[in-house]
Amino acid sequence: MGKHTPDPWIEIYDDDYSCVNITTEYRDGSIIPICRVDVGFVGEIEDEQRENIKLIKAAPDLLAALKDLLGDRHSVQGGICQVCGRDYLPEMIDGDCPSEDCPSFIARAAIALAEAVQS
Ligand SMILES: [Zn+2]
Repeated sequence: MGKHTPDPWIEIYDDDYSCVNITTEYRDGSIIPICRVDVGFVGEIEDEQRENIKLIKAAPDLLAALKDLLGDRHSVQGGICQVCGRDYLPEMIDGDCPSEDCPSFIARAAIALAEAVQS
């Protein structure tokens, strides 16, 4: 598994202000964009693009926070999911909650998506 670009992720505008480069600090004397978000629209699309920039910049912290929140303990302990409260006794004593609407399930899926090996 690889590692993502170290944070903080910052935004730097192109010279004509038509695009925001999400990047990290200068590395080896150059800026290497992580992604580019077009801006300069009007109305709802521009608002969404600005919100997308914020979300992308927060991605490293969001991933780290999800991992910290889940920790290394299973969500189901003693047969009860400690997150959604479902009772899995007697089938499961300890394990990961299998309910797709449980926040712990959603968090594990998001982490797996972020850390999936590209083929
Ligand atoms: Zn649960």
